[in-house]
Amino acid sequence: MPHSGIMPGAFIFYPLTICLVLQKFNQKNMELPADFLEMMKDHPGLDLNRFREALLGTAPVSIRLNPFKPIPDFDDCESVPWHPLGKYLPERPNFTLDPLFHAGTYYVQEASSMAICQALFQHTDLSKKMTVLDLCAAPGGKSTVLLSAISPDSFLLANEVIKARIPALRQNLTKWGRTNFMVSQHDPADFAGLKGTFDVVLVDAPCSGEGLFRKDPNACREWSLEQVGLCSARQRRILGEAQALVKAGGLLIYSTCTYNKLENDQQVEALLETGQFNVAPLTFPAEWGIAATQYGYQFYPNRLRGEGFYMSVLKNNGETAPAGTRQKVRKEFTRLSKKELAPIESWVAEPGQFAFFQKPNQEIVAIPKDLEEHFLLVANNLSRRSFGLHIGQVKQHKLVPSHELALSHLTSNRIPAVELDLEPARDFLRKEPFALDTPQKGWHLIRFRGHDLGWAKLLGNRFNNYLPTEWRIRNY
Ligand code: SAM
Repeated sequence: MPHSGIMPGAFIFYPLTICLVLQKFNQKNMELPADFLEMMKDHPGLDLNRFREALLGTAPVSIRLNPFKPIPDFDDCESVPWHPLGKYLPERPNFTLDPLFHAGTYYVQEASSMAICQALFQHTDLSKKMTVLDLCAAPGGKSTVLLSAISPDSFLLANEVIKARIPALRQNLTKWGRTNFMVSQHDPADFAGLKGTFDVVLVDAPCSGEGLFRKDPNACREWSLEQVGLCSARQRRILGEAQALVKAGGLLIYSTCTYNKLENDQQVEALLETGQFNVAPLTFPAEWGIAATQYGYQFYPNRLRGEGFYMSVLKNNGETAPAGTRQKVRKEFTRLSKKELAPIESWVAEPGQFAFFQKPNQEIVAIPKDLEEHFLLVANNLSRRSFGLHIGQVKQHKLVPSHELALSHLTSNRIPAVELDLEPARDFLRKEPFALDTPQKGWHLIRFRGHDLGWAKLLGNRFNNYLPTEWRIRNY
């Protein structure tokens, strides 16, 4: 039984209870579309009755721990077989009230989709520096799987085409605490300048969502054959763009949370017809319950503890000429001089490892020096993208630190910190008043069980809470 600040089930308040009851009611009354069931008959060896029963059951709750912010809380929980940091919880706690969730010590993710790590484990050398693209990334579940697996000197570009989905993606990646990533907001067609750039490209494609029927009855109501056709046309277009971005010898990982072949094996088949890719097979112990399809792997909820999911891994055996690189710093960023760096250095653990730039809005950002080339390549080719970790702004020769800095691995251990108990930590996250007892004035990191939650500035007998409003816990 986990023993974190949150005990599973201990904080199930009204809204959550109502949601769970409604979900149960919806499941019991869920009519699976006849066309969908007809298509499922095509799945060799699938026991359709068991499959239907599983869809009427309760979805397991799972989380994935952040290797960079370790906590012992879930050590006793059952492990997800295919991910070393995946854990099943006995029931769904109220994550919103857990400060460790806000500190980014774990990500709530359905178990099957954690399996993309196996593509990296089985087909890449994770000790080597890699360049990775997550083309359909929001809200960031698989981006955090990728960030957890790759080496610290590797680079991840997490892209999402829909603008409204960018804040959640950025927030989840910020909580993960790393600096070796960028976020962009582009259609896959805009990536022409990054041809042949990536060792790994993940296309976790928008799909008809059949695999989510159990968790989200709306997905079931909205499903139709027409929608499957639309999704498969869109997937073909995305894959057409994505394949050109993979380096010779690199991997293209294709995944969906659906079962039908039009969106799964048939997409892969079309790619194989180009002659540029071969299937890179994965091996899984039989007891994991993952079914092999013609070109990939299918996860069925009646065979394992997870939702419906499909993945296929392809290796680029052709030649992809990298696009020409233009790596001059764009005018929009000004590299900080030694003198300008002075107010920042004491905040950062190893300032020598980072290059610091100022943006036109005066925001100072840091990027790992080893990855400067990658950051500039992306920045020069994509116009809507983040650039580095926000450090803060210098006002009157003093740094006003940003929230991103607080959640990152960059902060110096010389920065004063205040450790809070559970209730004050929740109050901090709600931006509600609480007592803070420390004689030292100035900026402090606010911590819960050793994990940073944000900044407070102490001013004698009061303090200012610098948690950004959009990060605040609401209605709890
Ligand atoms: N990888 C994400 C994760 O693990 O958290 C989930 C991605 S979701 C299955 C698919 C994503 O593709 C959505 O965020 C959706 O907005 C995005 N998308 C929608 N249309 C797209 C398009 N035409 N090209 C690329 N991505 C698209």
